[in-house]
Amino acid sequence: MTKEITLRLTPQQASDTKYYLDIVANKLKVKKTEITEMRVRKRSIDARGRKVMIQLIVDVYIGEKAPSADLFNLEYKNVSLKEPVIVVGSGPGGLFAALHLIELGLCPIVIERGKDASTRKRDLALLNKNNPVNPESNYAFGEGGAGTYSDGKLYTRSTKRGDFRKIINVFRYHGASEQIAVDAHPHIGTNVLPRIIKNMRKTIIESGGQVLFNTKVTKLLVNDGQITGVEINNVENIKAKAVILATGHSAHDVYYMLHNQGIELEAKTWAMGVRVEHPQGLIDEIQYHSPEGRGKYLPAASYSFSCQVKQRGVYSFCMCPGGFIVPAMTGPEQMVVNGMSPSRRNSPYANSGMVVEIRPEDLPEEFKGKGVMAGLEYQKEIERLCYINGGQNIIAPAQRLTDFVGGRLSFDLPKVSYVPGAIAAPLHFVLPEMISSRLQEGFKNFGKWAKGFLDYDAVILGTESRTSSPLRIPRDSFSLMHPQVKGLFPCGEGAGYSGGIASSAIDGERCAQAAYNLINN
Ligand SMILES: Cc1cc2nc3c(=O)[nH]c(=O)nc-3n(C[C@H](O)[C@H](O)[C@H](O)COP(=O)(O)OP(=O)(O)OC[C@H]3O[C@@H](n4cnc5c(N)ncnc54)[C@H](O)[C@@H]3O)c2cc1C
Repeated sequence: MTKEITLRLTPQQASDTKYYLDIVANKLKVKKTEITEMRVRKRSIDARGRKVMIQLIVDVYIGEKAPSADLFNLEYKNVSLKEPVIVVGSGPGGLFAALHLIELGLCPIVIERGKDASTRKRDLALLNKNNPVNPESNYAFGEGGAGTYSDGKLYTRSTKRGDFRKIINVFRYHGASEQIAVDAHPHIGTNVLPRIIKNMRKTIIESGGQVLFNTKVTKLLVNDGQITGVEINNVENIKAKAVILATGHSAHDVYYMLHNQGIELEAKTWAMGVRVEHPQGLIDEIQYHSPEGRGKYLPAASYSFSCQVKQRGVYSFCMCPGGFIVPAMTGPEQMVVNGMSPSRRNSPYANSGMVVEIRPEDLPEEFKGKGVMAGLEYQKEIERLCYINGGQNIIAPAQRLTDFVGGRLSFDLPKVSYVPGAIAAPLHFVLPEMISSRLQEGFKNFGKWAKGFLDYDAVILGTESRTSSPLRIPRDSFSLMHPQVKGLFPCGEGAGYSGGIASSAIDGERCAQAAYNLINN
C-alpha cells in the first residue's frame, strides 16, 4: 500500500527521515517496521511566520517495495541517417531542441559559435583576471549558452506552455541530482552544470547528431521565402529544411544579421538596472526572522521583490543566494554583470538583479529614430556608460546601496564577490533618470518590507542589462515559424519566447516538435 502524507516540520525534523519516521507512523496509524520506504515528492520552505517550517509531501510505502523511480523514460534513437535539422546555439533552448529532435527521429546539427565547456572555462578565468572579453567565448557564449556558468535555478512561470517535469527528467537523466525533482525552487549550481551539459552533448553525438563548436552562423540561406540552410563563418554553407534559431539575447550581431537580411523583428518591453549584493548572513536574518540566521538545517535564504513605480515594474531578478557576481559582457566597451551560485550556495554573499521595466515608448527621442533597433542601441549605450564609469576594463562601477538611494557618491566600498573588482561611481547619476529614480523608489519600498535590506554594507554594481531582449523575432503562434521564412523557428530567450533556463528548454522542445510537424507534413 502507498499513502501520500503532507508534513509540516521544523527544519531539523525535515532534514532526515529518521527524525520523522515516528511522526509518519503515528499519523498513518501503522507500525514503524511496516514502513518500507518514504520518498519526499515535494519540499518547500514556509518562512512567512516567525518560526520557519518545512512542508514535505511524502509517498509512504507500507508493507511493499517502492517501485523504481519512474524517471528516465527517454529514448534517444540513432538518427544519423535521418532528416537533418539545424539548431543554432547550444544554450538550453538549442540543447533541449536537439535532444527532442532525436526523440522524434530527426538528426540535429547543433552549431555553436563558442567553445566546448572545458575550454570555455579557461576564457572565463582570464576574464575574471581582468583580461579583455573574448567576444566568442564568455559567460553568454559557448557550450550550454548563458545557462552553463549560472546558478542553474530551474523554476519557471511558463509551465502552461510545456512539460516542466519532462525538463527536470532530462536534466536528471544527464546527471542532475534527484533533489531537483523534489525542491519547490530547484537549482543545480555552476559547479555541476558543465558536467550535465557535456553529457547532453554526448547523447547528441552518440545518437548520430553533430555539435560544431567555434562555428558561427553568419547568414541565413533563404530561397523564395523558404529556409534552405545557414552560412557558417562567412565561408561555408550547411543545408537543411528547418533551422531552429536559439542564439540567446546577447547575440546582438544575430539581430543585425536578420535586420540586414530584411527578416522582420519587433521591438518589445525589457528591463535594465543593477545587481545588488548583501552579506548572505543579513539576508538569512531578514528572511528567516532570526538574529541567528539560517542555522544548520536551512539553505541560504533568497528573496523576491516587485513593485510599481511611476507606472513601471521594478523588481528583483535572478536572485543568487550564497553566490557571486560575474562579468557577463560579450564585447569591448561593455559593462554587464550577472550572478551565479555553486550547488551548495555557500559563498558569504547574496546577490540579485534589480531592474526597471522599459517599454519601447520610454526611449529617448534620439534613440527612437533608430527604428526597431532603438532598444538594442539604448541598451548598448547604457552598457558603454557603465564601462566608462567603471575601470574602463572589466572593473565594475559600484555604489553603496544607501548612497545610491540617498543620491551621493560612495567614499569607499564594502568587499564584493565580483572577482575583477569594483570602483566607486555615482550610479544614481550614470544611469538614465528613468531607471535610477525608479530604482531608488523601489529600493525604499523593499527596505520597508524587509527591515535591514537598506544596509550600509549592501552594494550595487552596474549594469544588469541582459535580463531579456529589447527585440522579439516574430513567429506564428501555431506553426512557430517566422511569418516571412518557412522553416525558420525563432526559439528561446533571444527570440523573446522564454526567460531563464527552464522556459528556454521548454521552448526548445516546442520548436523541435514544430520542426518535426513541418518535415512530416
Ligand atoms: C551568469 C548568468 C546566470 C544565470 N542564472 C540563471 C539561473 O540561475 N536560472 C535561470 O533560469 N536562468 C539564468 N540565467 C539566464 C539563462 O542562462 C538564460 O535564460 C538561458 O540560457 C537562455 O537560453 P537560450 O538557449 O535561449 O539562449 P542562450 O543560453 O543565451 O544560448 C544561446 C547560444 O547561442 C550561441 N550563439 C549566438 N549567436 C550564434 C551564432 N551566430 N552562431 C552560432 N551560435 C550562436 C551562443 O554562443 C550561446 O551559446 C543566467 C544567465 C547568466 C548569464
